[in-house]
Amino acid sequence: MGAITLDSVEKWFGDVQVIKGVDLEIADGEFVVFVGPSGCGKSTLLRMIGGLEETSRGRMLIDGRDVTPDPPSKRGLTMVFQSYALYPHMSVRDNMGFSLKTAGAPKAEIDAKVDEAARILKLDALLDRRPKALSGGQRQRVAIGRSIVRDPTAFLFDEPLSNLDAALRVEMRYEIAKLHQTLQATMIYVTHDQVEAMTLADRIVVLEAGRIAQVGTPRDLYENPANLFVAQFIGSPK
Ligand code: ADP
Ligand code: MG
Repeated sequence: MGAITLDSVEKWFGDVQVIKGVDLEIADGEFVVFVGPSGCGKSTLLRMIGGLEETSRGRMLIDGRDVTPDPPSKRGLTMVFQSYALYPHMSVRDNMGFSLKTAGAPKAEIDAKVDEAARILKLDALLDRRPKALSGGQRQRVAIGRSIVRDPTAFLFDEPLSNLDAALRVEMRYEIAKLHQTLQATMIYVTHDQVEAMTLADRIVVLEAGRIAQVGTPRDLYENPANLFVAQFIGSPK
């Protein structure tokens, strides 16, 4: 399960408000993309969902349970960042299994989970390599693999492809779409790239200065942008 509810959430840094009364219902298994210009609050909102930023006001629910005060470890979510800090001295297998090992899981279980994630991500042949012997795309796959082994309720991605070159970005976008199909897990994906948003999303949330400007399917937004800001951002002809 992985339904996520944002109930009038707000974020203040000191006396500056950066998230302004956001309401959103994300269904279990949905792929939701947050888009908007730099500084509009995408990362902050994602980090609030993940529990890495405190929610100043309002409530955050996962499958109906109020998780607002809970730390990241109690939310069952996982975050994938653009800077995928892998341990350089560890093999791909050990990098992927590390969080399970620290949680005290038995070796047989860790091996089984890592093998399954490696199969999904086509990393089978690379499990004994060190990160420095991998391409950028392969490293990003290992970073996603680290998340998969933990069976998260939902995946939170913050511009995971922005460090990759254009060709790799297209390839990884396709991989992430496939991953969503395979796992059927809830995914929330932050990007400022309209093409990524339009191709990946079940629904797009357009943020403008800490508020939701519009929520809808890519087609809704393209055909019926709520205002000029959305139209310009999505690249709609209207
Ligand atoms: P985005 O990811 O859409 O580019 P962010 O969520 O990173 O935007 O930032 C939203 C706003 O909050 C920006 O004005 C940013 O400067 C501000 N902000 C982000 N993190 C902090 C922080 N830790 N302290 C103060 N202001 C912050
Ligand atoms: Mg950001």
